[in-house]
Amino acid sequence: MKKTCSVMTCEYCDLDVYLNVKLFYESSGYRVFKDKISRDTNLLVVLRGDKEISDHEYTGVVHAYDYVREYKIDWRARFSKASRIFVISPTPPEYPDGVNYVKGYLPVIPELWQSPLKKKDSRPMHISHFKPMGEDQYQQELLKIIKSGLVRVYGKKWDRVDIKAKPLSYCQVNKMFAASSICYGLMYPYQRGKTLSGRMWQAPLQGCFVISEAGTNIAGCPGVIEVMSFSADNLSVIDHSIEKCQALALEAARYWKTATQILADELKLKISLKSVSNRRIFGPRRLLSAIRQTVEQLFRALQIRRMLKLTERRPLYLIVETVNTCNAHCVFCCYGKTKIKPQVLPMDIFEKVIREYSEMGGGAVSLTPVPGEVLLDPHLIKRYEILAKYKNIDQVSFTTNGIAFEKYSDEELKYILKSSFMIQVSIGGLDREGYKSLYQVDQFENVLNSVSRLLVLKKAIGSDAHIHLSFRTNNPNFEDIHREQLEAYKRQGCLISHISWYGNFGGIVKSGEVKDVSIINGSGLAKNETCVYPLLAPSVLPNGLITNCGCVDVNGDSLIIGDAHYNSLRDCWSSKERKNILDSFRQGNLVDLCRQCSMYRPSAHLAEPVYKNIRSYKKLPLEFYLLYGG
Ligand code: SF4
Ligand code: SF4
Repeated sequence: MKKTCSVMTCEYCDLDVYLNVKLFYESSGYRVFKDKISRDTNLLVVLRGDKEISDHEYTGVVHAYDYVREYKIDWRARFSKASRIFVISPTPPEYPDGVNYVKGYLPVIPELWQSPLKKKDSRPMHISHFKPMGEDQYQQELLKIIKSGLVRVYGKKWDRVDIKAKPLSYCQVNKMFAASSICYGLMYPYQRGKTLSGRMWQAPLQGCFVISEAGTNIAGCPGVIEVMSFSADNLSVIDHSIEKCQALALEAARYWKTATQILADELKLKISLKSVSNRRIFGPRRLLSAIRQTVEQLFRALQIRRMLKLTERRPLYLIVETVNTCNAHCVFCCYGKTKIKPQVLPMDIFEKVIREYSEMGGGAVSLTPVPGEVLLDPHLIKRYEILAKYKNIDQVSFTTNGIAFEKYSDEELKYILKSSFMIQVSIGGLDREGYKSLYQVDQFENVLNSVSRLLVLKKAIGSDAHIHLSFRTNNPNFEDIHREQLEAYKRQGCLISHISWYGNFGGIVKSGEVKDVSIINGSGLAKNETCVYPLLAPSVLPNGLITNCGCVDVNGDSLIIGDAHYNSLRDCWSSKERKNILDSFRQGNLVDLCRQCSMYRPSAHLAEPVYKNIRSYKKLPLEFYLLYGG
């Protein structure tokens, strides 16, 4: 008859831990039961350990895994008649008398968790329920980078700190690790340096690096990177290219196989993992979750296909950069760091591309230059008049630093307000000195006055234009500090956003070179799927060249798909040059700009909810502008 093993999961069952443990003991020849304490059991396995579990009649063997370090437990006092008690923990138990201490963690069976890597999400993530930790430094820093949008978060109870997050199933967690290359960990202070966290094994097995607090990787787990503080700078020190992620997955599998074998030896178990089929541990819940996930994946795939089809025929929007000079010198911007010749897009070329765009179906037009300041365009009003001639061009927007609004008359501003869908004003915070240090011009009061003027004029003419105040600072706490002022703007109908970390313009602005400002280093990002920017829109530069990335190709020398002087917009969109750009991601022959770029967004992004309501020949939803700017 088979020996029996009862696994007590106590107050809470960590399903991933239980699955590893179940397979571990089954492969050692035990029949495993969950949460059934019986005197006849040959082996009692206790996970987590709570305040209550004890049995003074039990005479078999106890394996107590103390991996949470929540309680100080005298195991011999709990199981006074047990023949032997093994306490397994990375650090020695508080009550060593009468127990055998085994330095180790939990069994981890890599085969159970590893799946083909699909690195789609370049943004790091944090998966955990919100932990009430008071003023803990790491948690405060993590909250800042989550609120700044740098880190995605999943789990329960995040509404306590005004963060929207949804919980994930165990299967989904595993998939998320397989799709991401970096995650942030956060342990309770009492656990740091005493035990490991679950993500330290699960994420690296899926090729995902873990950024963790200093002193927490006490077992030297591969892929766990300790840092003194959590910030955007952490990302620049990790090479998380697809090759590194793949190598990590292999190394982690080796590490955990060895660690699990050592654990089995210490516990005098003879494990044979081959003897247990994975199917035996996949219960109905796991099956249901897998089905749900497959359906979700199907919907995501369908949405991606729909978006690819939609943008194959025509761009989702058109960017026309009419001017490339600026009246600010933002420290995080590429302006002044390139050799771009100052230029204004000739009116005839402007009219030509607008006509061609209208012939392709029209839609949204953005007049935002990168870099440059649209209000310095001497023909801005005339451009609006041209745009107004094309009825199917129905969403005009731009981003401005707002400094030159003062040069426009009330009538001109009213006309712009009447004809725009969104005006995004980029503002360097809400205090003069902070503004000056970031934008390097003393225009704070001027800009704020112009915003007030804009709001008065908008009200006066009943314009529907969205005024989006987009704050740029180096303080992740900005929104908390200025909550009242921001709320006042919201009450006046403004949309508000804030960022405190910045793109690197394809490597023109270097991470670490700008004092006190976080610049993301893009060279370590896995970029094996086509980037969404060239999928969505072309950008006409002031010299008439058309680039496929209006977001980063500031010099217009890397992703050019034509010249508006000679080529039609339609031809550029279906050109061989554009096809090569789109293919370069999958083929791994990226131009240097894309290789260095930190703004990369993989095409999997097209499955996000923001694209759900995007239809051909329909206005773009507001959420789209909030994501991509004006
Ligand atoms: S970020 Fe905008 S406002 Fe600032 S320098 Fe660059 S182009 Fe000018
Ligand atoms: S990777 Fe960067 S430079 Fe290349 S297309 Fe995407 S956003 Fe533009």
